[in-house]
Amino acid sequence: MGQVERHRFVDTALVNQAYEDTSLPIGLGQTISKPGVVARMLALLLNGAGLKLGRVLEIGTGSAYQTALLAELAAQVFSIERFPALLDKARPLLQQANVRNVSLLLGDGTLGWREYGPYDGIVVSAGAPHVPPALEEQLAEGGRMLIPIGDRDEQILTLFVKRNGQLEGRDIVPVRFVPLIGAGGWLA
Ligand code: SAH
Repeated sequence: MGQVERHRFVDTALVNQAYEDTSLPIGLGQTISKPGVVARMLALLLNGAGLKLGRVLEIGTGSAYQTALLAELAAQVFSIERFPALLDKARPLLQQANVRNVSLLLGDGTLGWREYGPYDGIVVSAGAPHVPPALEEQLAEGGRMLIPIGDRDEQILTLFVKRNGQLEGRDIVPVRFVPLIGAGGWLA
């Protein structure tokens, strides 16, 4: 986190708040996640391995701040965002930060990105009513998924590990993410 400058990923009007531990608006009713929560998610994804992950799937590119962090921790990052306007902002920011191992996709992330799966890690940055079935399928054996599960306003950040083809879940901490909108999430 010392290497990725968060102020590059927020609006110029908000740069003075970029290093506070709060979420901030990024347009279209969406927010850049709170750095403390991002740190927690990434630490759980890595599982203290100290090794780079192989392929990671991120749902909800948003500002691309977490995407840039994931790019430091994984060989390849695949990130999906549903709003074209957010992806249009994210793309040049990642280029400026010299991030080259990220592929971006416009679409419904609840369907995953089958072509490049299965993934060693999946990070969902929006709150879901349940685990989207496609994401469960696309998680590799032994892979780890971080996803906020709950209602539209409040969720529990949950860690799932796939063992013998089954997801084992563990509640981590209460969180507030914007809703995951899509076929495997909230309908609107
Ligand atoms: N990690 C991002 C989080 C942004 S907020 C950041 O810190 O900037 C969550 C993002 O998830 C929003 O940009 C929202 O548009 C996106 N999102 C919600 N549902 C989605 C879906 N089904 N597929 C892809 N992106 C989705």
